[in-house]
Amino acid sequence: MSSVPRRDPDLSSAGVIGHVIGGRLDTTASRTLPVYDPAIGQITARVALATPADVDRAVKAAKAAFPAWSESPPLNRARILFAFKQLLDEHRDELAAIITREHGKTLDDARGELTRGIEVVEFACGVPQLLKGQHSDNIGGGIDNFSLRQPLGVCAGVTPFNFPAMVPMWMFPLAIACGNTFVLKPSERDPGASVRIAELLAEAGLPDGVFNVVQGDREAVDALLDHPDIAAVSFVGSTPIAEYIHRRGTENGKRVQALGGAKNHLVVMPDADLDQAADALVGAGYGSAGERCMAISVAVAVGATAGPLVEKLKQRIPALVVGDGSALGTDIGPLITAEHRERVLGYIDDGIDAGAELVIDGREHESSGHDSGFYLGPSLFDRVTAGMRIYREEIFGPVLSVVRVDSFADAVDLVNGHELGNGVACFTRDGGVAREFARRIEAGMVGINVAIPVPMAFHSFGGWKRSLFGAHHIYGEEGVRFYTRYKSVMQRWPDAASKGPEFTMPTHK
Ligand code: NAD
Repeated sequence: MSSVPRRDPDLSSAGVIGHVIGGRLDTTASRTLPVYDPAIGQITARVALATPADVDRAVKAAKAAFPAWSESPPLNRARILFAFKQLLDEHRDELAAIITREHGKTLDDARGELTRGIEVVEFACGVPQLLKGQHSDNIGGGIDNFSLRQPLGVCAGVTPFNFPAMVPMWMFPLAIACGNTFVLKPSERDPGASVRIAELLAEAGLPDGVFNVVQGDREAVDALLDHPDIAAVSFVGSTPIAEYIHRRGTENGKRVQALGGAKNHLVVMPDADLDQAADALVGAGYGSAGERCMAISVAVAVGATAGPLVEKLKQRIPALVVGDGSALGTDIGPLITAEHRERVLGYIDDGIDAGAELVIDGREHESSGHDSGFYLGPSLFDRVTAGMRIYREEIFGPVLSVVRVDSFADAVDLVNGHELGNGVACFTRDGGVAREFARRIEAGMVGINVAIPVPMAFHSFGGWKRSLFGAHHIYGEEGVRFYTRYKSVMQRWPDAASKGPEFTMPTHK
């Protein structure tokens, strides 16, 4: 039963999702790509693909808006964000419907994504406090020393398909709160939410040009990376592209934070509550069809836990409802595209060929959705080993692997030996083990009996190793540091007595 009005598939030729540049919607395009509703497997709109000239217009609009915006008091900027937050609350269901229609995730999950994005807006509303510098009175001879954090200029964001509202909201609320202007390049696979967000920002009172959207593919991204007036780039997406963005952006003298892919492990210790661990694995492994950068894709079963754990997973997985994300009762929606579904199917074949034991075959799972939707049921592999491609590579689909290890030390070595280090979790009742795990594990976000440890907006999000390129994690105080330049001011007023010229390093005696 569908609860959300769908776009009429017949509108595919008419409905172009366009750019928002300087406050104006622009749907002219020489190139477009189809946008699908993955639940029905049909094209429901087309997205404009920006040319370098389109990108240049957006950057010019953002540059023109920068002087007035950066001079406006932080409190005024915060007030606009308060109004924006209110509008997001009022339009939450509408935005969730757009996300579900283009991405496929369930409506509840889409609402959850919005909640986590809105939390960053709430954090950014505190920007007058966040931008407060430090002051040292009278460091010597009538001199004071204080610090400022000043905006960078025009910042760009390039975002992935899997969180079309939340990931942009990891970036632009803080960027603009800090006084920057912004150009967003959303994923071309689900671009609709970005335009609605731009409209709500305008309704909240954001001046034209402070937030711009250019739709597009690699051509638009390269134009942003090469544009001399872009000061900083925030990227979230897959590891190869993150590495590329970081290299090209930094070569062009830009500040870059590039968050990449993930292979998140959940270690199950023999003393863990196995029902809790199995529930956590099912939710974190298959939620959003495994298309989350914090999805758990590897269960590491320590000692004798493997047998009973796999049994508990086998009891739970067949009951999951795979179907249209807009229908009540659906647990797992479709994958984003038919091509991505093929890619995930390829990994299932690869796992079988490599000798892993396919305990539950998602290809046989019945879906309650439309026949032409991009559905794939949840698969479970047991006896996966570290050399297998299904272990090493990010699958980004509903495929969970169980790796059996003998000891806690082996589990830590396994996790630390993987090239990716985004999130990780350990399920145990032992405080000493939990503490040791949190201290020794090489990943940016750690959960102790928490499967998806996405940090709150007042902390910061990011991985280690090849899950993050650049020095800064995203949002929270790390975000404030990324979107501002630090300046130290040392001041003395003319009425302080001059000691005449000084030729040694000032030491302020
Ligand atoms: P992707 O890397 O294919 O695309 C991300 C963005 O980069 C899109 O806007 C896309 O248009 C652009 N892009 C793609 N190819 C490009 C190229 N060759 N040159 C320049 N730009 C290019 O990622 P995706 O498939 O949209 O999203 C899924 C990936 O994102 C997964 O790997 C997932 O782990 C990752 N992800 C990571 C995090 C995190 O916080 N670390 C969060 C969400 C998603």
